[in-house]
Amino acid sequence: MADAAAERTVVVIEDDAHIADLVDLYLREAGFRVLLAADGGRGLELIAQHRPALAVLDVGLPDIDGFEVCRRIRATSALPVMFLTARDGEIDRVLGLELGADDYVVKPFSPREVVARVKAILRRGQPATSADPSVLRIGDDFDVDTVRREVRRRNEPVALATREFDLLAHLARNQGVALSRLQLIDAVWGADFSGDDRTVDVHVRQLRKKLGDDIPLATVWGIGYRLG
Ligand code: CA
Repeated sequence: MADAAAERTVVVIEDDAHIADLVDLYLREAGFRVLLAADGGRGLELIAQHRPALAVLDVGLPDIDGFEVCRRIRATSALPVMFLTARDGEIDRVLGLELGADDYVVKPFSPREVVARVKAILRRGQPATSADPSVLRIGDDFDVDTVRREVRRRNEPVALATREFDLLAHLARNQGVALSRLQLIDAVWGADFSGDDRTVDVHVRQLRKKLGDDIPLATVWGIGYRLG
């Protein structure tokens, strides 16, 4: 699905300008399009907007740390992630937290090594038969693009509020599974939740209204909701 340019885009999230410039220079020399972010929030925005082929991720960032950035990436996509780690303790965490990082290099590193590893990760690539793993299909009509955060009904975009999107995406990832209201609250609202479990019902009702009756969204009596 991804176009040729997007396949060669790398988002580099690194707050040390000197390191960022070096990685940028070498990756561009190797033919990549590089987008730089100096903090985690900006990095996540760039990833959502540009659908890169890979993210290079520093651990120590000024806002949210690289581990949390990786977790948030992993919540919605299988984008390859390579960590830049500074200390031994960080390496232990990269390896120990099961964040799904694809590789890591330890600072100080040679920029050539970074380029070589980026190329190696991209060569491993996706299985030839798999569709874009960030796009979840529901029934015949709906596509949920978890990177662009777009829902399309027969290719026509449907505008959803943030929580409605998160709720639909979570249901789409768990198609055929009945999820209780409590499970949905936990997955979609987390610690931000302040309401009662009817809040879930209100959002589901909104979703149904916006998506139409052909969304295979079912209430499971006494339990919660499921898709498919
Ligand atoms: Ca740093």
